Amino acid sequence: MVELPRCRRATWPEVEGWADAVAAKVRAAGTRPETIVGLTRGGWVPARLLGDRLGVRRLVALRVQHWGVTAARDGQARLTEGLSGEIAGEAVLVVDDITDTGDSLRLASEHARAARPRSLETAALVHIAHATFVPTYFGEEIPRDAWVWVVFPWNYWEDLGTLAARAAEIAPGLEGVGRTLRERCGLDVPADDLRRVLGPPR
Ligand code: AMP
Repeated sequence: MVELPRCRRATWPEVEGWADAVAAKVRAAGTRPETIVGLTRGGWVPARLLGDRLGVRRLVALRVQHWGVTAARDGQARLTEGLSGEIAGEAVLVVDDITDTGDSLRLASEHARAARPRSLETAALVHIAHATFVPTYFGEEIPRDAWVWVVFPWNYWEDLGTLAARAAEIAPGLEGVGRTLRERCGLDVPADDLRRVLGPPR
């Protein structure tokens, strides 16, 4: 069975709106993070956007792997690279792009807490309501019965490549793939983008 999830392509203006919303909530709470821990890879761009908005200059990376290729969960969330810098004594905000099961952010915050920050909060641009871990701050909540795979701008080509390859198993060729992505995933993909991921016609 070829898996083609319902998808929603997130635009840069939407991403900026989510980052604005999270930053506004952080400011309203009166918290002043000194270091942002960005989960790589999904949380890396959001971490930078929040750093810009909150005036936080120090970013630290932490690598967690959970989902392998697009919308295919890769067993349990695993921490595959530790914190790239010290956070002891710091007020820390741990950031990811989306909490779906919530396992990645939970694992990351447990690991970060063990590094003895002065305080620790978490944030995600998007939160799916069924997640078992609720971030301290999020920009938008997706209801539990409206699950979608969010195609973020930083994952566009990777997601499109995976989805197009799966769609080609159902209906090969530019037209077949475009139609399948539209019907099954709800994605309207420009033909040039499909050409780029599918390569020259055989
Ligand atoms: P999770 O551990 O299930 O909360 O998912 C963590 C990571 O998997 C996120 O940082 C995303 O990069 C990716 N991910 C999981 N679910 C989705 C989704 N519905 N849409 C886009 N990316 C997702």
